[in-house]
Amino acid sequence: MPGSPPPATEACIFCRLLRDRSMVPYWVAETERAFAFLDLRPLRPGHALVIPKTHTLDLASVSPEDWRAVSDLVLDVQRRLRRSLGTTGENLVVASGPGSEQSVFHLHVHVIPRTETDGLALSAWWETKVGQPSREELVRLSERVRR
Ligand SMILES: [Zn+2]
Repeated sequence: MPGSPPPATEACIFCRLLRDRSMVPYWVAETERAFAFLDLRPLRPGHALVIPKTHTLDLASVSPEDWRAVSDLVLDVQRRLRRSLGTTGENLVVASGPGSEQSVFHLHVHVIPRTETDGLALSAWWETKVGQPSREELVRLSERVRR
């Protein structure tokens, strides 16, 4: 239809990578439903992204089948990173939805390989952000979430 915005898959950089694999020679693993490649702006060497092959905005809209496929490929990538890079840990990060600072609107899981001495200091940052709710507040909040 003239004048209408392009379908999400045409505007989406990850869908473009999936259609034209020559754009992503730094891919690392693939299954029928999911694809993994290195992040152009890695927090650590080997920092990879795992995405569903179907254009999916975020966790609220991913199908259970695609989420399982992404999760399975995350495990595969984790093993590949430890084997090939000698890393000893990982952090997984997913930004999902408008409140999450998601920047590419095709669901992706960051797999960030870690070592004890890599200096990323995620725990130090975390400690500056955590709250200190009372036990009563935690109970009230958990009741609200269980409803
Ligand atoms: Zn997409």
